[in-house]
Amino acid sequence: MSIRTIKDLAPAEVRGKRALVRVDFNVPLDERGGVADDTRIRAALPTIRALQKAGARVVLCSHLGRPKGKPDPKYTLAPVAAALGALLGGGSAVRFVPHVTGAEAEAATRALKDGEVCLLENTRFEAGEEKNDEALAKAFARLGDLYVNDAFGAAHRAHASTEGVARRLRPAVAGLLMQRELEYLGGALEKPQRPFIAILGGSKISGKIDVIEALLPKVDGILIGGAMACTFYKAMGFETGTSLVEPDRVEMAKELMDRAAFRLTIPHDATVAPGIAEGKKAHTVKRDAIPAGEAMLDIGPDSALSYARAIASAKTIIWNGPMGVFETPPFDEGTLAVAKAMAAATKRGATTIIGGGDSAAAVEAAGLADEMSHVSTGGGASLEFLEGKPLPGVTALDTTSTKGDA
Ligand code: ADP
Ligand code: MG
Repeated sequence: MSIRTIKDLAPAEVRGKRALVRVDFNVPLDERGGVADDTRIRAALPTIRALQKAGARVVLCSHLGRPKGKPDPKYTLAPVAAALGALLGGGSAVRFVPHVTGAEAEAATRALKDGEVCLLENTRFEAGEEKNDEALAKAFARLGDLYVNDAFGAAHRAHASTEGVARRLRPAVAGLLMQRELEYLGGALEKPQRPFIAILGGSKISGKIDVIEALLPKVDGILIGGAMACTFYKAMGFETGTSLVEPDRVEMAKELMDRAAFRLTIPHDATVAPGIAEGKKAHTVKRDAIPAGEAMLDIGPDSALSYARAIASAKTIIWNGPMGVFETPPFDEGTLAVAKAMAAATKRGATTIIGGGDSAAAVEAAGLADEMSHVSTGGGASLEFLEGKPLPGVTALDTTSTKGDA
């Protein structure tokens, strides 16, 4: 049983039909309200183009930022419509509809011709969106003849435009980006080429404990980095200085190390400094020699090298969470070493997957995003998926065994 996608639709289910497409256009804006980074818009293009080509009338909707359930001009999607129009090119002007739902919005969707595209206003201008309100979901359902969810980054939230509407509008299928995300992440979890390793870092062990638990039985090894290594150090009885340690998770870390045994690798050396702003004073120590007044801010060079070696001999690698405070050199070195090793692994045919917003940003900043098999567009969603949690925006869609004509 797998999720039905736009590729599984019959031509008659698409041509001349209004496809309500939930995309993730939650893009960063610049000071003048323009689109500062169009990565997420570009990620939705394949689905939009495929639907246009199939003769659908494309009705796009998305959230943007955190307006408080009411209209806020700061978060209008109008500039996104302009940016999308420019990216689509070929005379595909994108009509911006300054309504989320209602009679005017519906009229705008009915005015579209085959292959035309419009973008509705920010779904979070409606108080019912994040509450998954029934009435709002119904109002969304009136704006399409079929529903397509391509917003992987929002799929872990049961909102009116991601979950509620999908239960009311048939067919309800995944877009190409959603499909790609599920294929890569799901493929790694279900039938990984081995050796299969996970590299987990980031700031807090508390945020990653569920993913460690879920991955442990599936992987051949987990390599730990980031501040969460320090909670493990504490559990090993080492001095951790002023490092970010979660004292209430030390017991849990101990228990995990016992259970995981050799499958869990805690970095052997650390790059430490008196503070993040004191990069000039950065130096490397063995993990049992962290000075009392200093903090671990990156994995050390020996660990970086051994992680790179592990990556070099793996066939599937999932990475979530930077190895250090990558935003501030020289504490980006461990993260860069991992990113480069993963790029090299991709070249020799391994499957390399990046999940997590900051990890994706780090890989992007290093100019290596295109050298990975897959960089997930959903930080929170990819984490929940790896934790084995069902994503409401996905489970509400048709499966390939469902006939989409209910
Ligand atoms: P992701 O978004 O990829 O899931 P997280 O949000 O869990 O990653 O963690 C990213 C943050 O962790 C970054 O801002 C980074 O600076 C921080 N971080 C990594 N290592 C350390 C460390 N040793 N000490 C403090 N912060 C760290
Ligand atoms: Mg993050």
